[in-house]
Amino acid sequence: MSFMQKVRDGLRRLMVGRRGPDELSLALLVAGVVLSMLSSITRIGLFYLVSLVAYGFSIYRMFSRRIEKRYAENVKFLTFWRGWRSSLKQFINRAKNMRKYKYYKCPQCHAWLRLPRKVGEVTVTCGKCHSSFKQKA
Ligand SMILES: [Zn+2]
Repeated sequence: MSFMQKVRDGLRRLMVGRRGPDELSLALLVAGVVLSMLSSITRIGLFYLVSLVAYGFSIYRMFSRRIEKRYAENVKFLTFWRGWRSSLKQFINRAKNMRKYKYYKCPQCHAWLRLPRKVGEVTVTCGKCHSSFKQKA
């Protein structure tokens, strides 16, 4: 058995019953790298301390044997992350099209709506809650 095979077998045995890296663990590693870079740029020690906590929690999660708990944490993180990413995409999209459209929220359900600019005052029906109201654009 070669040295690399021994290492691979050892790692496989070590990871039995453990989940290994998931999205939350990888996000924590990335956050740790970003924070340690911030700490070396700004010389603020708190960033370094928080980055160590992020690394530590990430490694703890990868080697934890409580798979169900780690899975539930990861699902929570993914739900939060997808919501945040979608809000960010919508914000960027609105900023891109600000010259062509006027954006506003439905007074009933607060959904984002848009009207082409310079159409004057029109009666708008919300696509989500079907309430009608007048809006200037
Ligand atoms: Zn609505």
